[in-house]
Amino acid sequence: MKFYTFIISLVVLFFTACNSTQNNPQKTVLASPTATAVQDTLTKIVKSEAEWKKELTEQEFYILRQKGTERSFTGDLLKNKDKGIYVCAACDLPLFDSETKFKSGTGWPSFWEPINGINVAEESDNSHGMRRVEVLCNRCGGHLGHVFDDGPKPTGLRYCINSVSLNFKKEVGLTNKK
Ligand code: FE
Repeated sequence: MKFYTFIISLVVLFFTACNSTQNNPQKTVLASPTATAVQDTLTKIVKSEAEWKKELTEQEFYILRQKGTERSFTGDLLKNKDKGIYVCAACDLPLFDSETKFKSGTGWPSFWEPINGINVAEESDNSHGMRRVEVLCNRCGGHLGHVFDDGPKPTGLRYCINSVSLNFKKEVGLTNKK
């Protein structure tokens, strides 16, 4: 029985540690209720800007590394309705599921929820005279877009994401209805 008590103590300790990080004001601002997991559990990819510049296209570098924004209605994934997973264009980390994609009318791919509470990070962004919440890939730190609270149910959130920041991996073995 002592062994089980030990295991239970370990589990309690783990969850206590998780909760304590959520209360740390230095942590990222989490807009999504599903994005409540600790965001430091991924092995981060750290590269110099020169390295990223070699690996990414000019537009990818501008958006992912310099926090740029693609022109609305220009992204090749804007109207994609296939079933599958949207991954980070820089490091291939799964970020959004096609099941949560919706037509927002903004001209940028929009999702109401990230794929999980770990892979997508959120941080306060007070640039350009606006108070917004920036959305980033939590593994490579690539800029994805912003999240707003005017999305549809069930979350009421709108993850407004640059198409250039994403690659799409179609679900294999499914016939997609249009
Ligand atoms: Fe990434």
